[in-house]
Amino acid sequence: MDIPRIFNITESAHRIHNPFTPEKFATLGAALRLEPEGRVLDLGSGSGEMLCTWARDHGIVGTGIDMSQLFSEQAKRRAEELGVADRIEFIHGDATGYVSDEKVDVAACVGATWIAGGVAGTIELLARSLRAGGIILIGEPYWRQLPPTEDVAKGCLANAISDFLVLPELIASFGRLGYDVVEMVLANQDGWDRYEAAKWLTMRRWLEANPADELAQEVQSKLASEPERHAAYTREYLGWGVFALISRLSPGQA
Ligand code: SAH
Repeated sequence: MDIPRIFNITESAHRIHNPFTPEKFATLGAALRLEPEGRVLDLGSGSGEMLCTWARDHGIVGTGIDMSQLFSEQAKRRAEELGVADRIEFIHGDATGYVSDEKVDVAACVGATWIAGGVAGTIELLARSLRAGGIILIGEPYWRQLPPTEDVAKGCLANAISDFLVLPELIASFGRLGYDVVEMVLANQDGWDRYEAAKWLTMRRWLEANPADELAQEVQSKLASEPERHAAYTREYLGWGVFALISRLSPGQA
């Protein structure tokens, strides 16, 4: 079981597989007021940077599940490197339908909401692992500027403009699902560069080492086109953020 190999090639050197930087994850960890021994579940945990650094900095314990064998191995190594392997467990597997045995304080899906068919389905899935009053974290793109045409949306690697909302609408959509947005940390264009531009040198080095690989042509053509595509589209039009949600109190409770 694995994700398409192209991602394991282009993102092999990434510690964070989205436009967040280490500073943004640190800001988010502090913003959430995490408690020592607090339990965090992370679906689509990638190379584990969020869980590992929060275990180091805030003493949380947690579990991450990811379908990439490479990223899961990197996550385990990172936990050892940061001295938190006894606090954080990484499972290589499909997170579709995953519900934890023990309820968690924070249930996260940071940049992988297709796992449960989109934002609404992912919130529902995460809620099944969450203690009452716990925090759900959703990492999701939004339109920084609404694309003027469907072609511009495709340039951002979206299928259509309707794939994403503008920020106020995305925030409103959480409210309609019955959640208060209690915190948010947004990526910026420099963060997009760290995510996208870091793939280019990785691709170049991989091509030098694997000239006869069956994916060499695809990687070469990506390397030739991606910098311009990123500058024209993703960098200009796409925003990205992590939103912290708590189930809204019913009228009698508030
Ligand atoms: N949250 C991580 C990774 C985001 S990228 C970070 O912030 O760095 C999306 C991740 O989802 C990738 O690591 C990919 O391997 C993983 N993924 C994709 N489909 C999955 C599935 N069905 N189950 C678990 N993980 C999945």
